[in-house]
Amino acid sequence: MQRDVSVRGFLRRKAFWAAGLGIVLAAVACRTQSGEFFSGTWWQMPPVVNPGPLGGPPSDAVVLFDGKDMSQWNHAEKWVVKDGCVTSGGNDVQSKQSFGDCQLHVEWASPEKVSGSGQGRGNSGVFMMGMYEIQILDSYQNETYADGAVAAVYKQHPPLVNASRKPGEWQTYDIIWECPRFDAQGTLTKPACVTVLHNGVVVQNHFNPLGPTSWDQKPKYTPQPPKGPIGLQFHGNPVRFRNIWIREVKELTSQPGRDPHNH
Ligand code: MG
Repeated sequence: MQRDVSVRGFLRRKAFWAAGLGIVLAAVACRTQSGEFFSGTWWQMPPVVNPGPLGGPPSDAVVLFDGKDMSQWNHAEKWVVKDGCVTSGGNDVQSKQSFGDCQLHVEWASPEKVSGSGQGRGNSGVFMMGMYEIQILDSYQNETYADGAVAAVYKQHPPLVNASRKPGEWQTYDIIWECPRFDAQGTLTKPACVTVLHNGVVVQNHFNPLGPTSWDQKPKYTPQPPKGPIGLQFHGNPVRFRNIWIREVKELTSQPGRDPHNH
C-alpha cells in the first residue's frame, strides 16, 4: 500500500494521532474524577495523646485528684483523704482551676451501708462551670423523681437509662461538656451541651441545659464567664471520690486546600 504523501494525507495522519491522544487524556481525566475524593480541607495534625491506663488519666489531662491530696480544690478542709480516695464532708468543694469545653472523668461511690431514701441516699453532684449539676445519687433500687435521679441534669433532664451499680461499688462518670456562648451584648447565642456516660453507658446525649440547675428556681441563662470551676457537692451523705481528671476539648485548625500528606 502506497503512503499518501500529499498535504491532505499528512493532515489526516495528524488528526488520527490527535484523536487517539484525546481519547487517552479523556480516559485519564475520567479516572481522576471517579477516583479518590479530596476534601479540599487541610487539617492540622492531631496532637499525640497517650491515653494512659484504663480509666486514665491521658497524658494531656489535668489531674484534679490522684488519691493523695485535695491540693487542687478550694474549701476541702473537711473532705477526708484516705486509702486513695476522698470522702465528702462539711461543704461543697470547687477546683482551683477553671475550665471551658472539656472532658471530665470522675469515679465515685455511694455509701455501702444504705441509709435514707430518695434524695437523701448517697446524694452528691458534679457541677460543670460551678453551676450545672450532674446529679450523683444512690439510685440502685431507690425511687425518686426522674430528673433528680443519678446522672440527671438536675431538674432538667433524667438519665436515658439507670445504669447504677450497687451501693458501695465504684462508678464512673465521663462528661463531655460544651459551654454556653454569649455575644458581646450578653445574649445567648448557643446553649451549653452535655453528653454523659455513666459506667460506660450513654445517659445524656447532647442535651442542651436550659440554664444553670437549681432546686428552687426555674433555669435561665444569664451572661457568664467563658470558663468556670468544677464543683463537687456535699449533700449530707459521705460519698467517696477517686481518679478525677479533666482535659480541654478543642477543635483542630484547618484551612482550604489540599493536604500535602495526601499524595
Ligand atoms: Mg446532688
